[in-house]
Order: sequence, then structure tokens, then C-alpha cells
Amino acid sequence: MLRLKPGRDKSLRQRHPWIFSGAIATVEGSLERGGTVDVHTADGAFIARAAFSPESQIRARVWTFDAREAVDGAFIARRVARAVAARAPMLDPRHTGCRLIHGESDGLPGVIADRYADVVVLQLSSAGAERWRDAIVAALVEATAAACVYERSDADVRKLEGMASRVGLAHGKLPEPVTFVEDGIVYRVDVIGGQKTGFYLDQRDNRAAVRAIAASCDVLNLFSYSGAFALAALAGGAASVISIDSSNAALALARENLSSNPALPADRAEWREADVFAELRKMRDRGDGFDLIVVDPPKFAPTLAHAERASRAYKDANLWALKMLRPGGLLASFSCSGGIDAALFRKIVAGAALDASADAAVIGQFAAAADHPVSLAFPEGDYLKGLLVRKAR
Ligand code: SAH
Repeated sequence: MLRLKPGRDKSLRQRHPWIFSGAIATVEGSLERGGTVDVHTADGAFIARAAFSPESQIRARVWTFDAREAVDGAFIARRVARAVAARAPMLDPRHTGCRLIHGESDGLPGVIADRYADVVVLQLSSAGAERWRDAIVAALVEATAAACVYERSDADVRKLEGMASRVGLAHGKLPEPVTFVEDGIVYRVDVIGGQKTGFYLDQRDNRAAVRAIAASCDVLNLFSYSGAFALAALAGGAASVISIDSSNAALALARENLSSNPALPADRAEWREADVFAELRKMRDRGDGFDLIVVDPPKFAPTLAHAERASRAYKDANLWALKMLRPGGLLASFSCSGGIDAALFRKIVAGAALDASADAAVIGQFAAAADHPVSLAFPEGDYLKGLLVRKAR
């Protein structure tokens, strides 16, 4: 049992699922990593049932606030089935990929599962998720009838839990290649070596938005990864798309993705392996101009502690992008940093516009797609934010 210090039960009363080590007065009984533990307030009342993480600052993650609910295989199966069922309306022949389980916001802290057609990629990052691994895999197979579950439990955060990484097949056989469809476009996913689970599913709606405004535009796609924004822009009738990424493997996949979609005009796409910050300066010196620029950088600020350095990087990318926008041009700018909230992100983009002497206005806002829910009790889940900005002059 975990007993909280006096007055440290407020966030749990608001149904926030994390219990930090500093809030705990005593740990009673011998608890193993990932084991289930009841959490009591200072005056001895039950408040939550949670998974114990002996090595993390987040010492426990809540499974349930209901004292009558047992945490067992059936509990895990119910939560997995509930999450998978919520995605059923989002899958159809034009969209065969989606996030099935989004961690805390689906009541399964530390569990991420992404579906790519018949393949489910699973990422476990907390001790509690690890403890119930076999039940989670079995429940996913049961709920999805997927032919394959591949595990990519190799996120850095596992180290904070004292857990080594684990990658490999958890069920079935991995097809080669793994492909799925987003908005009618076919993508190959490198589930073994790719970033995250292999694809940035969270940007689905935002790629559709870019597709809808790309007609006749000269597009610059910064931090392109496997080219999804580029392909969306081409599908939307872009006149040209230059994509930049520092990863050779990502660009190779991007080229394959384009050739897997013969309906898209491959001759309008250019792929450049370069550091975005260096390349932007060169392009600006040449006087290049664009009608639509997508800026989708990596997670520069995983936590608040990195926010300042990250802010400078975001500002720099947006500053040069705004300088290269033609009058009337559009900037679709994103941040997936948990450490930078929407208000700070807007300030960063505003600062970039000021320094670029750009008269610019926000005409739209972006967030992660609906298969990446954000529990109202868990604001930390709201990591992806974006702005659509129009430059007047
Ligand atoms: N827009 C992509 C996802 C981008 S992820 C999509 O929709 O799929 C961020 C990408 O930025 C990664 O592919 C990474 O290789 C790349 N990257 C990180 N730092 C970079 C830098 N300094 N210059 C160029 N690319 C960089």
C-alpha cells in the first residue's frame, strides 16, 4: 500500500493518473516493479489502485479509481477492447491506419498501440504496462484480429523505469513490406527501424488540411520524415514540393512511398538530405520563395526543462520559413513537444514573425487526430499543436 502525505491527494481527486515520489509518505509491504498497489490518503481512505514504478519519479500510475475494480487480465482486456472499439468508426478502406491505444488517455498508462492495416505495433513504457504485457498482446489480438503484433518497446523513457528495451514479434508474422492507406495514399512503414512505431499517425487530419490548400502551390516541407506531408500536398495538386530531412533512411522511405503511388506526379517532388537550419539559410541567400511551407520538427522539448533551448530552435525554423513565404503564402507550423504548450508556441511563432518583419495572422489551428484523445484529467496528453498562418506581405 502507498500512503500519501497530508494534502497530496488533490491531483488524484481530479483524476490525474500520476503519483510522484514526493507525494508518498510511506510504502507498506514489499512491492515488485509493475505490481498493483492500493493508494490511500493520509487519513487512510482508498483513493486509487495503481501500478508501482520503484525507480521512476512517477512512482505509480493509476489503473482505476474504483475500489471494487480488480486489476487482472479481464480488466486489461476490457480497457483494450474499449480503446479499440472507439476507433472502429475511424477505419475504412481509405484510412487503414490509426492509433488504437493512446496511453493514459485510454486508461492504459504507458501503453501505445498503432494499427497499420493488419499489423499492430505496440510500445510499452511503464512498469505497469510491462507487467501486463502478455495480457495486452492477447487482448489486442482478440479485439483487432490483427495478423501480427510487433513490439517496439525501445523508447528512452523505459530507462527511467529501470527497464531494458524489447523489440520483436509478439504475435504472428510480420509482412514485408508493411503498408497501409491514409486518405487514399499508400505508405510503407518501417516498423522495425523507423521512428516511433514507424509513422506519425497523429498528423493525419493536418495532412488532410495541407492537401486541401496545396493546389498550384510551390511547397517546402521541412522535417519530412517518410514524406507524408509531401505526398498529401502532391495529392492536393501542388506545383512542386521540396522536402528536407537529415535522415537518409527516412528519405529513402519517402521516395519508395512516392513510387508506390503512381497516380501522384513524382516529377514534382524533390528530396534533400540536409540539416534544415543550415539549408534554410542557403535557400534564403539564393532568394527561393514558396507559397506553402510545412514545419514539423522533432520533439525538441520532451519536458519543460528543455523548453528554452527548444523555443530557440522552433523560432529559428519558423523565422526562416516566414522569410521565404511569398506574400499571401501559408505556413503550417507544428510542435509535438510536451514541454511547450499552445500559448507558448503561439508566442514563439509571433516572435519569429516579428523578427522576419512578416505581417502574419493565424487562420487555423491544429491538434492531433481523434484517435489520439486527450483525457481532460491529463493535460500532459495534449502534446501536438499547430498553427496555420497567412503572411500578408
Ligand atoms: N513531418 C513528418 C514527421 C517529422 S518527424 C511526417 O509527417 O511524417 C521529425 C523529422 O525531423 C525526423 O524525420 C528527423 O529525421 C528530422 N530531423 C531532426 N532534426 C533535423 C534537422 N536538424 N534537420 C533536418 N531534419 C531533421
